[in-house]
Amino acid sequence: MKRKEKQKNTYGGAYVPEMLVHALKEIEIEFEKALKDKRFQKEFRELLRSYSGRPTPLIYAGNLTKHFGGGKLYLKNEGANHTGAHKITHCLGQALIAKRLGKKELIAETGAGQHGVATATVAAKFGFKCKIFMGEVDIARQRPNVFWMEQLGAEVISVSSGSKTLKDAVNEALKYWMAHSDESYYVIGSVLGPHPYPEMNRTFQSIIGEEIREQTRKAEKKLPDVVVACVGGGSNAIGAFYDFVKEKNVRLIGVEAGGIGKRVGENAMRKENGSLGIFQGYKSLFLQTSEGHIAPTHSVAAGLDYPGMGPELATLFREKRVELQSATDKEAVEACLLTAKHEGVIPALESSHALAYAYKILPKLSKKEVVVVNVSGRGDKDLFNLTRYLNHKEFKKFLAEEIQRYEK
Ligand SMILES: *Cc1c(COP(=O)(O)O)cnc(C)c1O
Repeated sequence: MKRKEKQKNTYGGAYVPEMLVHALKEIEIEFEKALKDKRFQKEFRELLRSYSGRPTPLIYAGNLTKHFGGGKLYLKNEGANHTGAHKITHCLGQALIAKRLGKKELIAETGAGQHGVATATVAAKFGFKCKIFMGEVDIARQRPNVFWMEQLGAEVISVSSGSKTLKDAVNEALKYWMAHSDESYYVIGSVLGPHPYPEMNRTFQSIIGEEIREQTRKAEKKLPDVVVACVGGGSNAIGAFYDFVKEKNVRLIGVEAGGIGKRVGENAMRKENGSLGIFQGYKSLFLQTSEGHIAPTHSVAAGLDYPGMGPELATLFREKRVELQSATDKEAVEACLLTAKHEGVIPALESSHALAYAYKILPKLSKKEVVVVNVSGRGDKDLFNLTRYLNHKEFKKFLAEEIQRYEK
């Protein structure tokens, strides 16, 4: 796309096959029209209110504030959203764009399945057909999410090429979209992919930061001093940060998956190990092998196990407006359990990375300083993952017995 060539040094862009240029242009034009359309704004806000349950609460975490004895902690509870995380917000926004474009079908790829569930949910709500592309290996690992996608009426398409995981599912979904873009809309699950997706999804998610501003002002009569969010692709982070980018006194901290170690394949730390690359239609920081192939990643939190980063967030990091930090699997699990015990909030393992980092800095802050952690999702979905991580003997016994109950 010519327009982007002027910005050779910027992250982002739209590096796609010729066959998709029209489909992207169509979305870009419709999105720009929608932004100026008061009725669209109203419909979107109304859906967030009446379907997703916004505004999500800003919870004062009094017990943990006392526990750490430093700054004052608030939890922005995005886990209170319908379907349990912030993802529903950009899926609703994109579904409205697809409707305006007269599309009949939503398609998406998914690794851990959370984006697949959110897409299948809005497809059911708006009456779209729905196809979810998923690697064969991921289908086997994520059966509960596959089950729910199917109950929501989506067709889950098993991808058995390559490594049978997310990147192969992306390839299949793109291939399908190229052939069916007249009636299909490709729903992207984070602030990623070719222009205009990163900007569009950030615009939808920026409601998080707007609410944080309003709710913190009400509770504390000021802006937060620090906002912390975990970073997978970057949608919950940029959503929480965007409204504060111009407020130079508000520290913005993104937390990446530190995984189980510092070597390639043991984490998803693009800050340490990322380099400039082009993948999935956009230019950004990616974890790559020395040959420039996408490197394997690891995190206990499926949503953070991603090799790239949204281009806008990567830019804010380069400009030193956003700090990037990390938390390990172990620190995240500990933060998850601590938050549950002290506050009665069970955070998703992704969000627990943000909490883990906040817990490192809270004791060093003064009592006047306000830290808001974006709790991007709730932890119910992590039941299997967490019990396995903890090697929970009773739960393992339960699973074995459950099979016997099936067979009776
Ligand atoms: C998907 C997911 C993430 C990671 O995605 P971002 O685009 O980085 O926000 C984080 N938290 C939860 C709960 C998720 O489901």
